[in-house]
Amino acid sequence: MITPGLEPHLCPVCCTQAKALDVVDFNKNCEEKTGIFLPMSGKPVYYFHCPNCAFTFAPELMAWSKEQFEENIYNDEYALVDPDYLEKRPAHNANEIFNTFSPFYTNPRHLDYGGGNGLMSKLIGEKGWNSTSYDPFVNTDVNPADLGKFDFITAFEIFEHVCDVNHLIKSLTSFMHPQSVVLFSTYVSDNDIKPNQRLNWWYASPRNGHISLFSKKSLTLLAESVNLKFGSFNPVAHYFCYTKPEWIKN
Ligand SMILES: [Zn+2]
Repeated sequence: MITPGLEPHLCPVCCTQAKALDVVDFNKNCEEKTGIFLPMSGKPVYYFHCPNCAFTFAPELMAWSKEQFEENIYNDEYALVDPDYLEKRPAHNANEIFNTFSPFYTNPRHLDYGGGNGLMSKLIGEKGWNSTSYDPFVNTDVNPADLGKFDFITAFEIFEHVCDVNHLIKSLTSFMHPQSVVLFSTYVSDNDIKPNQRLNWWYASPRNGHISLFSKKSLTLLAESVNLKFGSFNPVAHYFCYTKPEWIKN
């Protein structure tokens, strides 16, 4: 008899048998680092860790339906654990992206993948780029195949939230041409998650919907599964591309 929550799971990235790493309360959230604690929910969330690529994931939540996520995570209280997501972060990101990457692109076709209400894309559009927002959860009436290909794709705060990492990478490639660059954010776990250590990392937070936690190796393998190259600008900002443009030095 296997204890519920500890059923075996294969790593979704490299298919190695993953190992149960730790269990945390469902209400563990990213704002605890600023002193905001929610009451214990009493719901255990098990995280599994791949001994090969170090991908770490919460299998039970990965199997949830869209409705379960909307009811339990992306609900009216979500702003408590991610106060900047509606306005402050899109505005900040729009400025950063435009200022950083405009020197390398003249009026690019830009896609903000998983762009929620589309605010960041709107702000970048106002600065002069040809920008589109596409969020599979929001733009359900849009056929992604009709959107075409994009020169520059951003995917901020997406990777750690996805249930199906292989679907995500394939979906991103469907918007890419041979020279496209995908800029995406997710904190890599390399210095923060280790086997046989408790999962104390602030980013491993079920209440924020952080169910897929990537190491650099797991991102490399995910990229290679669709013939992409992977690289990092820093511990949270990374890129995928088929051919590295000259402006990417690392
Ligand atoms: Zn793996």
